[in-house]
Amino acid sequence: MAQNMVLLLFVIYRLISTVGLTVDPTALLRLNPGGQLSTDPSDLDSASWDFGGLSRAAPPAAVVRPSSAADVSAVLRASHASARAFPVSARGHGHSINGQARAPGGVVVDMHHGVASRAARGIPVFSPSLGGYYVDVWGGDLWIDVLNWTLSNGGLAPKSWTDYLYLTVGGTLSNAGISGQAFHHGPQISNVYELDVVTGKGDMVTCSEKENPELFFGVLGGLGQFGIITRARIALEPAPQRVRWIRVLYSNFTAFTKDQEHLISLHGAAHQSQRFDYVEGFVIVDEGLINNWRSSFFSPRNPVKISSLGDNNNNNNGGIFYCLEMTRNYDESTAGSIDQEVEALLKELEFIPTSVFTTDLPYVDFLDRVHKAELKLRAKGLWEVAHPWLNLFVPASQIADFDRGVFAGILGNKTTGPILIYPMNKHKWDERSSVVTPDEEVFYLVALLRSALPDSGESTQSLEYLSKQNQQILDFCDESGIEVKQYLPHYRTQSDWARHFGPKWERFLRLKSEFDPKFILGTGQGIFQSISSISSSSFSS
Ligand code: FAD
Repeated sequence: MAQNMVLLLFVIYRLISTVGLTVDPTALLRLNPGGQLSTDPSDLDSASWDFGGLSRAAPPAAVVRPSSAADVSAVLRASHASARAFPVSARGHGHSINGQARAPGGVVVDMHHGVASRAARGIPVFSPSLGGYYVDVWGGDLWIDVLNWTLSNGGLAPKSWTDYLYLTVGGTLSNAGISGQAFHHGPQISNVYELDVVTGKGDMVTCSEKENPELFFGVLGGLGQFGIITRARIALEPAPQRVRWIRVLYSNFTAFTKDQEHLISLHGAAHQSQRFDYVEGFVIVDEGLINNWRSSFFSPRNPVKISSLGDNNNNNNGGIFYCLEMTRNYDESTAGSIDQEVEALLKELEFIPTSVFTTDLPYVDFLDRVHKAELKLRAKGLWEVAHPWLNLFVPASQIADFDRGVFAGILGNKTTGPILIYPMNKHKWDERSSVVTPDEEVFYLVALLRSALPDSGESTQSLEYLSKQNQQILDFCDESGIEVKQYLPHYRTQSDWARHFGPKWERFLRLKSEFDPKFILGTGQGIFQSISSISSSSFSS
């Protein structure tokens, strides 16, 4: 079936390139080769929807479920060769917020729901030249499937994670892929050795730091603009067996961030026992939140009452608490020393003494922790709601101003969803990638992961209220000179995009004209809309 589709698309491509036909995606579909191409309204509807659920756009004309990189190439070649190129976007698992994986009127390449995954997955191997293990996986694989695969093939696991594993490899590599391990290992884009990419011209290109490095680094954090990742070579390590997971509370923001920054400064510790493996944190602007959906850590039968913590410190921050979250990985062979090692690390911190919460669990259960919360939310009908999320990178030198203005200011004492805050080391990020971070060695992720709950009866939980509040936060940063960079960025004008990319903008434009000169790819990101409308009319004239 896959071969049929490649053949069919190839014939159309030859037709178009020979006689210069204008083709739109539905023309491809009139010759439907089978299950790989769909115009089923429910498929089109699903492909125009995402986790954010903030808006609906025009649906694509077709959804393609590729069975190989050649299928992806055939779609892109067909569009590129057309006198009037049509948009093509890769869709990972559709967990974007602002329609980034859409292709209104074009073709969505559904990377996850094809049959390519298992066939494209390699057996993990050890590379003496890299000095470590790696695995080759399909770009549409979910990280949970990569984990299960590497565990069952040698007891290995990727080194760098996202908090949630039901995201695709290609989707997170197009952004960065961050979690509490990033301070030590860097983001996921720092833990990939090689990619196969299909460019906007339909060329299938293998790239790495040494081979086609411009495309390699351009695609990493490149928001799907230069090509579709069909294969990624991911760095692995032997998977630990268990995790000691610790949470401690602070009422003093300065003490909290000082301790977080101290912990991430240990990234280069000579021995693993001298640092934690994961460092994150979250803000508790209202007490209800300490037992919220991501706090699967605490048993519901034993909820935490902040009033019971006996905090004698001066809490000048309007009743806000900050939770520092750390883990140490260990195996049976190191189980004997884990208590002392954790105790030694905790001794260096200044949290509220009565606020230490500890649990112990298998490594896989820790990595997959958010999925458990997802299942609970789904059962209550609270997963498929609108998610006006805002993710920001904030320079460490300005995080206290951000705290005063946002956590203790704009948010009031209400929020509907977790607020993550944790620092990372910039030198663990490769400046050659497309992602942009603040211009300081230490910067924080602040993730306002809020859900709109229109039926709650509270205006502060409506989509409109939360969206306005996000804008207020961005305006506040602008006016106060807090030089934030959006993570999973979303802008409406090209001047905002140019400002976002800063010194990287020029290279971004150059790579676009080299690898996707007809502006076919990733139109859902809204970066090149204005240019592409000019270009597509000039291309077709
Ligand atoms: P999609 O949303 O489908 O696509 C995202 C973008 O990437 C689109 O522009 C798309 O065109 C492009 N794309 C997709 N696949 C490819 C490919 N193969 N090649 C080229 N371009 C491609 N992020 C973190 O970093 N850390 C977290 O801890 C984290 N937790 C999350 C938890 C939840 C519950 C959710 C909903 C999101 C979370 N994210 C996190 C954000 C996540 O990284 C992004 O949503 C990302 O886009 C991955 O989602 P996806 O695979 O569904 O990609």
